[in-house]
Amino acid sequence: MLFSATAFILKVEVLTEKDLVADFLTQTHGVVRAVVHGARGRSKRAAALQLLTQVRVTWFQREGAELASLREIEITKSTFVLSTRTETALLIPYFCESFLEFLPPAEPAEKAYRLLDHVLEALLKESVAASLAARYLEVWLLRLSGLFPEVTRCAVCREPLDTLANRFDTEASSFVHGRCATGPGLTVSGEASRILASLLRLPLPSLDPAEDVVLNEVEMVAREIRRRFLGHELKSYAFLLTLHEKSIP
Ligand SMILES: [Zn+2]
Repeated sequence: MLFSATAFILKVEVLTEKDLVADFLTQTHGVVRAVVHGARGRSKRAAALQLLTQVRVTWFQREGAELASLREIEITKSTFVLSTRTETALLIPYFCESFLEFLPPAEPAEKAYRLLDHVLEALLKESVAASLAARYLEVWLLRLSGLFPEVTRCAVCREPLDTLANRFDTEASSFVHGRCATGPGLTVSGEASRILASLLRLPLPSLDPAEDVVLNEVEMVAREIRRRFLGHELKSYAFLLTLHEKSIP
């Protein structure tokens, strides 16, 4: 059957001397993996196959087949400028790998598609800091996967979380009061809790700018949830960390 959709390119690999395989996050069919014939080299097709470029694609897929065949591809929105800015260039592989890890192939993922579109749009307009956009994307991707816990109430006593500081219980993967915490965990400042609550409530351009130290706390929580779920760290994220001269404990 032939299908058409708007999509973002998440991965491109060499298949043969002339052909590539690409993974697309489509608006209607989730992640689609398709052979792109004759795309290697300086063809128009190759130009459209840059990571996170938004494209209109038409593909052929037999029922139950894992691999589709790309028929048409046309750029609808270039995100090339993001690869030219240092603060966003390294986020591109990280975003792509995150979506590929968390979205099961061929399952509709319209909310995930809208999330990526929303974050890229904000980055293209430079209406938001890259670090805030990255935290927004990772928290929301975990939330859409059913992994990000409630951020306003303590998971143990169900009362609202404290305004000054709370704990993220890494074993239970939930936010708790310091006094209710029993297992190992991370300290989460009241400011980080407030940012998390707004991230999950407001669109990116409506968020207040946040300090790096607070965004780092949000990043640590997201990273803990992601690593526990996947059982490993994302390659692109580990690379980001080495560039920031941080080491993974
Ligand atoms: Zn409590």
